Amino acid sequence: MKETLEALLQEALGKIEAAEDGRALQEVRVSYLGKKGPITEVLRGMGKLSAEERPKVGQMANEVRDEIKTKLDEKEQALEDIRVAKQLEEQKLDVTMPGRPIEKGTKHPLQAVVEEVEDIFIGLGFSVAEGPEVETDYYNFEALNLPKDHPARDMQDSFYFTEELLLRTQTSPVQARTMEAHNGVGPVKVICPGRVFRRDNDDATHSHQFMQIEGLYIDHNVRMSDLRGVLDSFVKRFFGENREIRLRPSFFPFTEPSVEVDVTCALCGGKGCRVCKQSGWIEVLGAGMVHPKVLGMSGFDSNDYSGFAFGMGVERLAMLKYGIDDIRHFYTNDKRFLAQFKRV
Ligand SMILES: [Zn+2]
Repeated sequence: MKETLEALLQEALGKIEAAEDGRALQEVRVSYLGKKGPITEVLRGMGKLSAEERPKVGQMANEVRDEIKTKLDEKEQALEDIRVAKQLEEQKLDVTMPGRPIEKGTKHPLQAVVEEVEDIFIGLGFSVAEGPEVETDYYNFEALNLPKDHPARDMQDSFYFTEELLLRTQTSPVQARTMEAHNGVGPVKVICPGRVFRRDNDDATHSHQFMQIEGLYIDHNVRMSDLRGVLDSFVKRFFGENREIRLRPSFFPFTEPSVEVDVTCALCGGKGCRVCKQSGWIEVLGAGMVHPKVLGMSGFDSNDYSGFAFGMGVERLAMLKYGIDDIRHFYTNDKRFLAQFKRV
């Protein structure tokens, strides 16, 4: 009996030693310590032993069982330690891995155009004025000679918060506010860049949101020729020295007389092509002499002061300068489009 138990113990220890994973260990545990295992069998057969031998063999069988159990537990712990160590090794942070590149953004083409236009006009003695995008009906329309029933309002339908509060449809209210702040004393020489909003269906040339830059110059003896000189200077700096402008009669409620300003087509140099519809000219902005009524409403004596104003669409300037064919490109945040302006 003693030898049998001793042999069983050595056999079990050998298998525990050889076990490479938890599953192999579990098999050893079941086969040696289970109800059908050899130790249980020895204990069952004790009835055949003498009263003298019985306690000794019983004690020994218990010792063998305890030893196997202890070794099993130890091995189980050892295997677990190895598994954890291995996992830690595998998950170790590899500081030699290349990092994820940080993408550098680019200046939005509209912002680039606004800054370039600002630079040109600052060089001509203008300063930059800004105003609120949520505007009152008074500043957006009435102070600009557009009373509530004026038909020209139809072209500038907007987004209203209340009857008197709306998203501005033009940057002209900034001019009205600037004039008012001057209390009838000139000179006023500002450009007003900013976002404007109109109820429009978006397509290749229309957007419900776009940007304008307006300019205003009020002083003694400001004449139409001053307007022409300033715009000619601007166009040459923005589009190129070889570009010419022409003024065509037009209508705006807040200027009198009013003009549309065209620039010679860059593609054909004025000869006529598909882009300029064979005319040789491309329309870029609207302008005119400030209406005496607008001067008066803003506190200026129109017998003493005169002035000119002009307004242009930033998107249109950018489209003409960079050959962009759809206004929606500016607002869809497509990185492939924006990345083309890295060197602008
Ligand atoms: Zn052309």
